[in-house]
Amino acid sequence: DEEARLRARRLESLGTLAGGISHDLNNVLTPILMAVQLLGQGEQDPARRELLTTMETAARRGADMISKVLAFARGVDGRRERIAVDSLLDELRIVARDLLPSDVELTVEVEPIPPSSAPIGDSTQLLQVLTNLVTNARDAMPGGGALRVRASTVDGAPGEGAGSPPLGASVVIAVEDTGTGMTAEVAEKVFEPFFTTKPLGSGTGLGLATSLSIMRSHGGLIRVDSAPGRGTRVELLLPVPEAGAVEDPERTDAEQP
Ligand code: ADP
Repeated sequence: DEEARLRARRLESLGTLAGGISHDLNNVLTPILMAVQLLGQGEQDPARRELLTTMETAARRGADMISKVLAFARGVDGRRERIAVDSLLDELRIVARDLLPSDVELTVEVEPIPPSSAPIGDSTQLLQVLTNLVTNARDAMPGGGALRVRASTVDGAPGEGAGSPPLGASVVIAVEDTGTGMTAEVAEKVFEPFFTTKPLGSGTGLGLATSLSIMRSHGGLIRVDSAPGRGTRVELLLPVPEAGAVEDPERTDAEQP
C-alpha cells in the first residue's frame, strides 16, 4: 500500500545519505587511526600512552559504527545461492563463541532440511542477521541466561501485515533469549533505523533495521515477540522456492567458465 511504499522510499534515501556520509567519515578516520598508532609506538610516557590508547579505541569504535551503517546502506543486492541451514548455524555457533560470555548458555537445534527445501539467498547476509540477533540477546542478558536457536520448516505462514500475501513453505529460524524483554513501546520501534536503548557508543540502532531489509530482500520476514521480564523471541522466515519455480542457482554457477 501507499504508506508502506513511502516508508520504503524514505528508508532508501536514508540509506543513500547514510552510505555517503559513512564513506566520507571513513576517509576522515583512517589517517587519524594511523597517526595515533604511530605516535603510540614511539611514546614512552605512560600517561601519554594511555591518552593515545583512548584515542585509538574511540577511533576504532567509530570505524566499527561506520561499517555497520555501510552494511545497512548497501542493503539488498546480495547473492542467490542455496542456503544450507545447518552449515549456516554451524558458522553462527563459531561467531557466538566469541560473542557470548560464559554465563550465557547457547543451544542450537536444526531439524534436517533436505536440499530441495533449502531457501535461496545470501548466506553472508543471513549470518549477519543472525549475528545481530545473538548480539542483541547477549546485551539483554547482562546477568547470563539461555539462548536457543532453532531451525525448522513450516508449510505456510501469514504475510508481513494486513493485505500482504501469505508465505508458502518456509524455513523458520527462531532466536530466543531469557533476557530483559521489551515493552510494547520499544518493540514497536525496534525496526526503525537508529532506534536504540543502548548507551551511546555501544549501539547504533541499525541491527534490526538492517536485518529487516535483508529479510525483505529474501522475500522473507522477521518477527519479534517479547514482554518485559519474559525474554524475547525473534523469528526469521525464509520462503522455500517451489520446485521448478526458479532455476537451480548452483547449476547455473557450475556452467559458467
Ligand atoms: P542496537 O542493538 O544497536 O541497539 P538494534 O536495531 O539491533 O540496534 O536493536 C534496537 C533496540 O531493540 C535495542 O536497543 C533494544 O532496545 C531492543 N532489542 C533488540 N533485541 C532485543 C532483545 N533480544 N531483548 C531486548 N531488547 C532488544
